[in-house]
Amino acid sequence: MSEKISHVLILGGGFGGLSAANEIRNSLSSSQVKITVIDKKNWFMVGFAKLWIIKGTRTFENSIGLLTNLAKKEIDFLNEEILQIDLENKNVRTTSKDLTYDFLIIAIGTMLAPQKIPGLVENGLNLYDYKESEKIHTKIKELKSGTIAISIMSMPYMCPPAPFEASLIIDSMLRETGMRDSVEIHFYSPAPITLPAAGPEISKQILDLINSEKIIFHESCKVKSVEPNKLIFQDGEANFDLLLAVPPHVVSNVILKAGLAQENNFIPITRDCKTPYYNVYAVGDVTTLKVTDTIAVPKAGVFAEGEGLAVARSIISKIQSKEETELFDGKGGCFIESGRDTASLIEIDMFSVPNPSTNLTNSTPEHLNEKLQFEKDRLSKWL
Ligand SMILES: Cc1cc2nc3c(=O)[nH]c(=O)nc-3n(C[C@H](O)[C@H](O)[C@H](O)COP(=O)(O)OP(=O)(O)OC[C@H]3O[C@@H](n4cnc5c(N)ncnc54)[C@H](O)[C@@H]3O)c2cc1C
Repeated sequence: MSEKISHVLILGGGFGGLSAANEIRNSLSSSQVKITVIDKKNWFMVGFAKLWIIKGTRTFENSIGLLTNLAKKEIDFLNEEILQIDLENKNVRTTSKDLTYDFLIIAIGTMLAPQKIPGLVENGLNLYDYKESEKIHTKIKELKSGTIAISIMSMPYMCPPAPFEASLIIDSMLRETGMRDSVEIHFYSPAPITLPAAGPEISKQILDLINSEKIIFHESCKVKSVEPNKLIFQDGEANFDLLLAVPPHVVSNVILKAGLAQENNFIPITRDCKTPYYNVYAVGDVTTLKVTDTIAVPKAGVFAEGEGLAVARSIISKIQSKEETELFDGKGGCFIESGRDTASLIEIDMFSVPNPSTNLTNSTPEHLNEKLQFEKDRLSKWL
């Protein structure tokens, strides 16, 4: 009698889903495991490529990898929207199908919710939405004078250093057009320091870096609403000519309806990335992994990737009847481009004892090359 082939169903073809799918396939053949990835998009893009589209050195088309390429690795790809996750009956419903599984990995990321801030959709652009990146590029290139406001609208948000990196890239674009002296760049954050997750020392270094380019940081600014050319905070207001917002991030309704997270929260996990349901795991931005009472693992691709790898190895072990659980190691690095053809790297170890450890390297051309290579590696090894 032939042995039953396990089915690993992966919801989301982003950092977490693709790292897990590839890790499992690299260890187990299609006669040992069937792998299906579901995503409503048919492409993957490394998040920071959006900043290069804003800068104008990239287009959308030359920044993506196609999820249909997964077929080459005998990984099934279903290009449909996930509508329902029924954990009691081990069933996932998409637009046209019902799928069952032996192992489920939930990796559907976070949703951007600009509609949660009254007036934002009408009066601002979304710094994190690839559909708005080209428009942002054009607006910055056309700007002759005035004020650009970069505003983080709530915490947590994806890749904490990215908006600061965006401000430095925008600064470089204005230097190129010769308009930097007539355009002010103001940065508004609800946090008291630039990068709370990286601690006060690195926050001060990031503050010094943006200040050195005359980007003005405003701390503890909680946005209530947006009016034409005006940000309204809980305490005060500020004018702008161009608003680039990092909108609130929320968990998808599919997750709320499955009972995996409470309203305004993400799926709580520990380092094994298990959910309370048997053989159901959650990784990446869709989760909250607390490190201390006040610090959680930041929402970033490197961490989603690390969690995807850990879960993949636990599943491989189960399929091989070894039952060894791999824990997410909490290690990662994030590049910060300076806008002057260099980049620095924040190296992070979230689970170092007694506190998470972070280190910011010098800004060098080598780190900028490593950033380019980071993207190349993911696209070539995953797709
Ligand atoms: C401007 C910018 C710069 C960034 N820079 C960095 C960086 O330098 N380093 C870093 O580590 N991270 C960076 N990030 C963050 C990084 O992109 C995310 O943290 C990462 O993508 C999270 O991975 P994930 O697998 O959890 O989710 P995602 O990569 O978001 O993948 C989730 C997938 O699920 C799919 N999906 C969601 N809902 C459904 C549904 N109902 N049905 C079907 N499919 C669905 C989505 O289409 C998506 O493809 C950056 C992000 C941005 C916006």
